[in-house]
Amino acid sequence: MLLLVFVGRRQRNRNKKNLFAEEDRGHAAEESTLSAQELQSLRQAERRLKKDEIYYLKKKPHGNPGAFYTCALCDVLLESIPHAYKHIRDKRHKKKERQEQLMLTEIQPPGPEQISAVSAALEAVVQEHGMNDEDVEKRRCVTQTVWIIFH
Ligand SMILES: [Zn+2]
Repeated sequence: MLLLVFVGRRQRNRNKKNLFAEEDRGHAAEESTLSAQELQSLRQAERRLKKDEIYYLKKKPHGNPGAFYTCALCDVLLESIPHAYKHIRDKRHKKKERQEQLMLTEIQPPGPEQISAVSAALEAVVQEHGMNDEDVEKRRCVTQTVWIIFH
């Protein structure tokens, strides 16, 4: 049962990755009408959008077959590259972007209170599971006995 749950989760992760995968994707319909140069600039635009967390959708989402891209930050669907560019200039997207950056850069180093809390937690673990002097002595005796047996 546990194994089943584990496999299920892996499967889901793989699906999510595939959704964003760059290779092996079916641009078929839209790309067949594009010239090589247009195709190249399309790819270039997609690469640029990726930096803003916009990903090409490999599978069209149910109920919205017109969506080609998704913003991973805002979790919204976008219909085209112009749409995507409009989206990354959008206030709501910018706000999300700022929030994301804040989360990454504004993590404060631990204060004295947090440090003492961590120390207390560690000491409790040592007291519960650690070795006292007697244990250490016992272990030394066992090690020596084993050494004597094998030499
Ligand atoms: Zn967004």
